Amino acid sequence: MSTIEYFKHKDPPKREERLKACIAHGDTVCGLARKGKGCLTQDGERSFTQGSICLLLPALAMLNSLPDNVVLLHSALGCGSCTHSQNANVRMGGNVRWGRVKDGVWLSTALDETDVISGGEPKLEQAIIEADRRYRPRTITVVAGCVPGIIGDDIDGVAQKVQPQVAARILPVHCEGFKTKIWATAYDAVFHAVGRNLLEDPEERQPVLPDEEGSGREKIRLQRTVNLMNVSSMGRVDEVELERLLNSLGLEVNIFPVFSRPDDMVKATRAALSISTCPTHDDYFLSYLHERFGVPFVLKHMPIGINNTGLWIRDVATRFGQEEAAERLIAAEEAELEEALAEFRPLFAGKTVFVSAGEFRALATAKLLEELGFRVVGIRSFHHDAYAEGEYEKLAATAGEDYVIDIANVQPFEEANLLSRIRPDLFLGHANGNMTAAKLGIPTHVIYNTGLAYIGYRGVYEIARRLHRQLRNPIYNRKLSRHLQLPYSDEWYGESPFSHIKTG
Ligand code: SF4
Repeated sequence: MSTIEYFKHKDPPKREERLKACIAHGDTVCGLARKGKGCLTQDGERSFTQGSICLLLPALAMLNSLPDNVVLLHSALGCGSCTHSQNANVRMGGNVRWGRVKDGVWLSTALDETDVISGGEPKLEQAIIEADRRYRPRTITVVAGCVPGIIGDDIDGVAQKVQPQVAARILPVHCEGFKTKIWATAYDAVFHAVGRNLLEDPEERQPVLPDEEGSGREKIRLQRTVNLMNVSSMGRVDEVELERLLNSLGLEVNIFPVFSRPDDMVKATRAALSISTCPTHDDYFLSYLHERFGVPFVLKHMPIGINNTGLWIRDVATRFGQEEAAERLIAAEEAELEEALAEFRPLFAGKTVFVSAGEFRALATAKLLEELGFRVVGIRSFHHDAYAEGEYEKLAATAGEDYVIDIANVQPFEEANLLSRIRPDLFLGHANGNMTAAKLGIPTHVIYNTGLAYIGYRGVYEIARRLHRQLRNPIYNRKLSRHLQLPYSDEWYGESPFSHIKTG
């Protein structure tokens, strides 16, 4: 089905169906690289599984950042409690972009037992009107959790009914947690709402105004304007790095969708090119922008690591006939970086590392660590789909020895088993996913923190600098392991880490 067809439906498709993505698989880097196109069409099931997040968390990370938006959760009260921890990022993000510290605005209809029996639509109608009256936002994103999905509340119908009474544009976002185990579906859910409710059709567009000299300068500017996608996996420091590289090629940048206003979203339909920073995040919407508005896109490499950043720049430059400028830029950046990295390399040489994150980020970061001199000995990816196949091939081509790949929506019990066997010198994972390694005495570092640099050439240097400082003194984790214990039995450590995965 074409992407534009999906957008005709109220609900976005699940990634299990749209991409045949999977979350339960044990393999090796060479095994996955060999499988090539269309691998893993059969997802496994676990006979035992630990809790994980639902798609509300990444969806709210995007929606809470929007400056002129009210997030209205239509769900039970506990849904969206992650917003409390995300608010620091909203405040910091606003401050570094506009010098203004502002909380995200989120409300909840707090559905209770009575609503479950008699329906929550009247409550939602009142809440939308009240949110519009109280905050006067440009948009209200009505985010549905599990309860309205189960009792059959029609959030799109309510939005349509109430829209004439409110000034804000209402965007229904379908995040019913029970519908998918692949939380990357959240990106599709948000883009689905934006595409269906906010973007104007080409024939409705205002013509591009000529500038005061009538020379059509605005039109020329749009021909050099690119959409740079950020669904919240980059902080401002990383945006600045990519803007710097794209500006070097003479391009103007429209960063989208986090911290953007409705106008920036509409502007995305007029850009000359959309540039993905992570294919896992962006494929659904970039295909849609292409099919509906004719905006071409590049979606192949993630600009993490030396080689991948070069490939990412080359992909963009080719679209604007800037190949020579790109080669000059890459050569100058790499030469400077090599010199700066020299002091760190002796400590890194041959040290082993295990990486855990969303698939594309984990694989690109593994490549970066290889470039710094580490030996990758294992990767845990939160899911797998065909977009990452090329990344496994890149890693397999340079792997001295084959190593394990765990496709798991977290599942720390598998990770504990793997780490107790492999005992890497270093573990890179998300802040809330590092505790298993930390308790085993392994030094850890966060793979994502919006205050730190990870992306582009600057990211390579900053990661190296931080890891160097950490590895010079790993005593903290050693001491931690003497006083803390993981909850798993010796029996489990004796079993295969993948013994609970049942492949059909
Ligand atoms: S949407 Fe469903 S799975 Fe997600 S937090 Fe709410 S009840 Fe839990």
